[in-house]
Amino acid sequence: MKFTKKQIERYSRQIILKKIGVIGQKKLLKSSVLIVGAGGLGSPIAIYLAALGIGQIGIIDKDNIEISNLSRQIIFSTNDLKKNKSSTAISKLKKINPDIEFKSFNKKLTKKNINTIAKNFNLIVDGSDNFRTRFLINDYCLQNKKILISGAISKFDGQVYTFNFSKKKSPCLRCFVPNAPTNLDIDNCEYEGVLGTLGGIIGTIQANEVIKEILEIGDTLCGHILIIDGLKLTFRKVKLNKRSDCYCNEI
Ligand SMILES: [Zn+2]
Repeated sequence: MKFTKKQIERYSRQIILKKIGVIGQKKLLKSSVLIVGAGGLGSPIAIYLAALGIGQIGIIDKDNIEISNLSRQIIFSTNDLKKNKSSTAISKLKKINPDIEFKSFNKKLTKKNINTIAKNFNLIVDGSDNFRTRFLINDYCLQNKKILISGAISKFDGQVYTFNFSKKKSPCLRCFVPNAPTNLDIDNCEYEGVLGTLGGIIGTIQANEVIKEILEIGDTLCGHILIIDGLKLTFRKVKLNKRSDCYCNEI
């Protein structure tokens, strides 16, 4: 693939970076990332990944935009109310970067459809709001040896974890959460509240991890969890050990 003059200009601030260069930028344009959830996390994740040139981006979300979403789901505007999230997000992203090939999935991610939807993507970014979806993505990525970058926000706090299942020793989400909550579908943001900026902080770190994983630069979070307290402004990177009795040992 050859860059056009416009592409060289568009990505010039990244191409100039020694760790990226022309080769790295081409690698980004050849990558495919599936974003699960076009919400508080999915908004900054999608905006950054599209802007900086991830070549193929899929977004899955079955929900429609509600007024209570707008305090943190910054990709949407007041005149988008009642429209579908994934297709509306994509129409905005196309304006940011027409280079990108987008795929909209206006549905809920389930055990039945995850294989068909996720098979064409190298990497999955989880911006979902419930444990049922988080575990589903964790188990799929584990079985298919894919990279998963997961994030969660609640109140003034957030967490990011990266699992690279192509590496044998990678722990999984179930190692970290051995006892699943009784109600897997509960959305913490709805019941406990969340400050809008947390989506920006955590989602942007997730997007940053995506780039590092694709380009294999720096130290990724793989095998660690980053715990952020937005009020005290502390960032704790904690090593996550693989539990010997976890499901991931059976794969
Ligand atoms: Zn595990």
